[in-house]
Amino acid sequence: MRLLIMGPPGAGKGTQAVSLAERIGGAHISTGDIFRANIQQQTELGRTAQRYSDAGEYVPDEVTNAMVKDRLAQDDAREGFILDGYPRTVGQVHTLDEILEELGASLDGVIELVVDPEELIQRLLKRAETSGRVDDTEDVIRHRQEVYTSETAPLLEVYGSRGLLIQVDGVGDVDEVSRRIADALPS
Ligand code: AMP
Repeated sequence: MRLLIMGPPGAGKGTQAVSLAERIGGAHISTGDIFRANIQQQTELGRTAQRYSDAGEYVPDEVTNAMVKDRLAQDDAREGFILDGYPRTVGQVHTLDEILEELGASLDGVIELVVDPEELIQRLLKRAETSGRVDDTEDVIRHRQEVYTSETAPLLEVYGSRGLLIQVDGVGDVDEVSRRIADALPS
């Protein structure tokens, strides 16, 4: 199965994507995780990504698209994957369409975790106390939500019009949300 998981920052995408990847037996591909690994290893890609992510901005499409193209060509993604945090812009949607066409593959569904924005701000502020992530200051948190609303939320309509959108209530404990996702997946 080939899935996307979407939702605003702090909605719990990463946590759900890990268990979902196990369930579908596919690769969990998180662009945020790949950028963070590169930042830690101080690669060229990491240095570029850091400039943007520290400020709560998106990394430019050319950089992100090339990275995802490479990752989707790897063996473990051949049978299925869950893409977590990509696509995030309309340009990335087009690139993903092209990559999948080249691979002769198509998406089975796009999961949207629906969570109240105020609840998210509270979650993120709480996470900021313990994470030590540089992009977890209050200003950056608010900016990331705004960027999501302007750049990424419109993608939900695109996938909705393709009949792929699966909306799941993202409020509740992790297991409860996992169950809702499992129940909503296409068979
Ligand atoms: P995340 O952990 O998914 O919130 O990603 C952390 C940061 O990595 C984001 O704030 C962006 O700077 C960058 N990033 C992750 N995925 C993308 C993407 N698809 N397009 C652009 N930037 C991204």
